[in-house]
Amino acid sequence: MTNKHSEKKLDTTLISAGRDKRYSVGAVNSVIQRASSLVFDSVADKKRATAGRTRGELFYGRRGTLTHFSLQDAMTELENGAGCVLYPCGAAAVTNAILAFVESGDEVLMCGSVYEPTRDFCNHILRKLNVSTSWYPHTTGNNIEDYLSAQTKVVFLESPGSITMEVQDIPAIVAAVRRKVPEAIIMIDNTWAAGVLFKALDFGIDISIQAGTKYIIGHSDGMIGTAVANERCYATLRENSYLMGQMADADTAYMASRGLRTLAVRLRQHQESSIKVAQWLSTRDEVWRVNHPALPECPGHEFWKRDFSGCSGLFSFILREELSAEALADFLDNFHHFSMAYSWGGYESLILANQPKEIAAIRPEGEALLPGTLVRLHIGLEDVDDLIADLDAGFQRLAAHRR
Ligand SMILES: *Cc1c(COP(=O)(O)O)cnc(C)c1O
Repeated sequence: MTNKHSEKKLDTTLISAGRDKRYSVGAVNSVIQRASSLVFDSVADKKRATAGRTRGELFYGRRGTLTHFSLQDAMTELENGAGCVLYPCGAAAVTNAILAFVESGDEVLMCGSVYEPTRDFCNHILRKLNVSTSWYPHTTGNNIEDYLSAQTKVVFLESPGSITMEVQDIPAIVAAVRRKVPEAIIMIDNTWAAGVLFKALDFGIDISIQAGTKYIIGHSDGMIGTAVANERCYATLRENSYLMGQMADADTAYMASRGLRTLAVRLRQHQESSIKVAQWLSTRDEVWRVNHPALPECPGHEFWKRDFSGCSGLFSFILREELSAEALADFLDNFHHFSMAYSWGGYESLILANQPKEIAAIRPEGEALLPGTLVRLHIGLEDVDDLIADLDAGFQRLAAHRR
């Protein structure tokens, strides 16, 4: 893993980023500075703080404290941006980033395999504001031009897509947008790549958004959102988010900074184990397709191979058959190491399933109906052979239902 714009390798950057002496006050980590009021020594000091409030001067809690500045510096360096805005969760980062750049009459072009709450935000909140959404259905960027119009203000990507995991041809999409609507703001939900396995801003994307809730915090015990923007977009994003009252608390910002220090090691293990489980699944007769970006059968695998420096632990696979409600419950209820939960990115393995009708409901832009039940896995940091044995026992339970 290397960090293209820096002399340092990514592993080293993750250790050093944001660890300015001003933030750590003699410790290794940043202090947790919990504050609403930040006290000025004099009228002159207040004036100086006010003038520098967007450039790291302590001003008022909602503009951040030393704890936030440390995380923001680290994220800005890691994602090669001009600055980072923090949010109380990933959904707030997605919605506020979009809201910062649209007004009544504008259009948002949205990736069809986007995270379901992002889809719902477009259909409910944006619609109310007279901002329309069009959806592009395909995994490649070949025909993205057909979906762009003079009203397109924001183009929103998520790659790989949520649940169905299609990897997009991002350079082709970015080139088409810059050709046809050069001023449009291009954003990506970059959560799967943890902001480091895909360097969005290096590909000409304006804003890289993450649910830091997932891999950055990494222990399933906190929620935070991050958005790193380039020079063109940072001030607008920052000031709009500030007016919307967006901020993360200092304790959670601290946990996010702490998570960064072990991110590379965790991701390497998630990658190694998830590939091993995916390859094992692809040999099973019960499985129709494994949607793991590192496997050739995954839609858009070639784009992953070209553009990403690695993969994380989240992927899905599709069974040949649609399971009965009883078989599905028996399959999901009896794993030893896979818990059922939304969210992912922690150290523990997780499993969820969707029936073809449920997938069709969130992919109305023409994705073909899948033959059978889709299962999504997050491969955690357990011993991978234990995980495979657990899944193997799950397939045996399914076989018993078929008899
Ligand atoms: C979880 C998730 C989000 C939302 O993050 P929260 O912190 O739960 O609000 C956004 N995008 C993707 C792809 C996610 O998986």
